[in-house]
Amino acid sequence: MSIEQRLAATRDRIAEAAARVGRDASSVRLIAVSKTFPIEAVRAAYDAGQRDFGENRVQEALQKMDGGTAADIRWHLVGHLQSNKARKAGERMDVIHSIDGVDLLQRIDAAAAAVGRRPQVLVQVDLANEATKHGAGPEALTALFEAAARCQAAQAVGLMLLPPLADNPEDARPWFGRLRALRDRLLDAGVPPPLLKELSMGMSHDFEVAIAEGATMVRVGTAIFGTR
Ligand SMILES: *Cc1c(COP(=O)(O)O)cnc(C)c1O
Repeated sequence: MSIEQRLAATRDRIAEAAARVGRDASSVRLIAVSKTFPIEAVRAAYDAGQRDFGENRVQEALQKMDGGTAADIRWHLVGHLQSNKARKAGERMDVIHSIDGVDLLQRIDAAAAAVGRRPQVLVQVDLANEATKHGAGPEALTALFEAAARCQAAQAVGLMLLPPLADNPEDARPWFGRLRALRDRLLDAGVPPPLLKELSMGMSHDFEVAIAEGATMVRVGTAIFGTR
């Protein structure tokens, strides 16, 4: 199958998953994760109507942005961000899904403010307390959203989750449900709703389950571009 066909099949599956739980397909944004794939793959998906692309390294994202891709692409950083890459990310990325601390948030905010950009940011949450994974623990979120409310340029829009790896997509369901419940608790605690409108969760093997649990952004690589 071509990228165009796999993209269409993915869009169909998103629409069906949304319909099964009474959601509108337009409430789920598909982010095509093009990491490790060449710029031609981005162009093929773009020509098939895709506008949101995800990368997990700032350097690779910049190479694709500057290598002749369309200016109206929204570039998402979905991978872990080291603080020494925060400035470039804040200056160039449209959406950053991997905020895991106040210091990183403030670096991104300062970098974006300095160049007059307003990137959206999501807080990556580590629900499983996995030592190998990045993300902020649930106990750190109140302080993070207080800091987010004070940012001048970075706009917090929600939460991101990368659940523990599992073969069966149903194994991810409780984690997705927990992220949604955490979002609801933060709303109850007074975090302004615009800061929590997005739930970025679900990848190629489990995005349908994530949509059933409330995902508003799904990050899909393999199902669109093939195996890496
Ligand atoms: C690579 C990656 C994805 C996409 O994974 P696929 O299984 O290829 O769909 C999604 N989110 C993050 C954070 C990733 O690093």
